[in-house]
Amino acid sequence: MKITIVGGGIAGLSFALNLHARGIDCEVYESVPEVKEIGVGITILPHASAELSKLGVLEKLEPLGIENLESVFFNRYGQFVYKELRGRHSGYKTPELGMHRGRLHRVLYDAVLQRLGAAKVHTGYRCTGFKQTAEPATGVELFMDLADGSQRVVPASVVVACDGVNSAIRKQLYPDDQVAFAGINTWRGVSIHKPILSGKSYIRIGSIETGKMVIYPIIDNVDGKGNQLINWVAEIQEDQAAMNDWNKPGRLEDFLPTFEDWRYDWLDVPALIQASDHILEYPMVDKDPLKQWTFGAITLMGDAAHPMYPRGSNGSAQAIIDARTLADCIQNSFASDGANPTSATHALKDYESKRLEPTAKVVKTNRTLPPDAIIMKADELSKGQPFRSIDDLISQDELRQISENYKQIAGFALSATPT
Ligand SMILES: Cc1cc2nc3c(=O)[nH]c(=O)nc-3n(C[C@H](O)[C@H](O)[C@H](O)COP(=O)(O)OP(=O)(O)OC[C@H]3O[C@@H](n4cnc5c(N)ncnc54)[C@H](O)[C@@H]3O)c2cc1C
Repeated sequence: MKITIVGGGIAGLSFALNLHARGIDCEVYESVPEVKEIGVGITILPHASAELSKLGVLEKLEPLGIENLESVFFNRYGQFVYKELRGRHSGYKTPELGMHRGRLHRVLYDAVLQRLGAAKVHTGYRCTGFKQTAEPATGVELFMDLADGSQRVVPASVVVACDGVNSAIRKQLYPDDQVAFAGINTWRGVSIHKPILSGKSYIRIGSIETGKMVIYPIIDNVDGKGNQLINWVAEIQEDQAAMNDWNKPGRLEDFLPTFEDWRYDWLDVPALIQASDHILEYPMVDKDPLKQWTFGAITLMGDAAHPMYPRGSNGSAQAIIDARTLADCIQNSFASDGANPTSATHALKDYESKRLEPTAKVVKTNRTLPPDAIIMKADELSKGQPFRSIDDLISQDELRQISENYKQIAGFALSATPT
């Protein structure tokens, strides 16, 4: 009894490792012919690092990233709004890490190759659709375009679609499926720069309404001179904005003017942006939550199931939690009903019942009340003007409530995380 995984990203690879740890056979089909370290910065929150620790890969990841000490919020004038300690520094058992997404992906990929063997990982296989024979299904045919131009039909008993935000399998299940764009565009880059604040600070400045920057370090001493590789993201919301193109390089002139006067005594934002060799542009998109992920012998996972705005560092965390949850459900189902396709399809439904609602809440909260609502609150109270001290407007405890509310919804309140 084998599980077939479509997509070898963060979700697909974590799922493969979880299945392997439970002695359940699987194979991964990934569209890119060669796995390269692409993307920019990603933040691994404590609920995700706890899962990665259980998978035995956290010790490999920690030296490759930077353990965050604190999360700090400023208004667009560079004035302090709120700060809190993060990860182990605030009592969690596992760290909050900033790192290059490519490094996270590489560590997961290498672990899968090493533990499952290269024969279980098929690169250069782009899934274009599927056919199911019956329900509860005992047969799925996956249609694949191969990198060499040929086509193949891959037979499978149970399929988990981990093929990301533009999932081909989701598209077949929901032909009208499309990304939701609310006028927020983003530009991303990495710059070599001296450490900012503590050198371990996750920094948010401004809000999407007025322009926002997210800045955090991902590699220490990148040049042997004590400088860091700093990940930055610029976000701008405009009512009539055209959607940025995933496949095009970003252009400074499209966003730098918004940040031109963001020069503070603790950071020169335009200089940080201009120090980046390459700029990537992305639209900030998500999709409306679905009512159903599991159809017979097929289910959705990670971004294929619940793409969300990257406003709370939760995309990869929720994907990694999905992976462990489904592996647990399959293990339990096999233990009680035997390792067969019917038992596996019951597990897919069980997984859906456990994960659909919680992830839908994160999708909705990332739209309405993400952590940067802290800065919006300060802007609202100061009417968008500079202030003398945030304490004149609101207490740190009140702002902490916004942060704690988000952690509760996203499943990483300290009380809910393994200690
Ligand atoms: C190239 C890339 C760069 C990213 N960079 C960042 C970043 O810098 N910061 C950040 O916070 N998040 C980034 N993300 C998003 C983040 O990694 C995901 O939100 C999160 O980890 C969810 O993981 P996932 O496995 O569901 O989706 P993804 O990580 O998107 O993985 C999906 C995988 O499926 C493969 N795939 C797609 N279509 C098919 C198909 N038809 N057949 C077979 N395989 C298919 C893709 O090649 C990919 O490997 C990036 C994603 C990608 C793909």
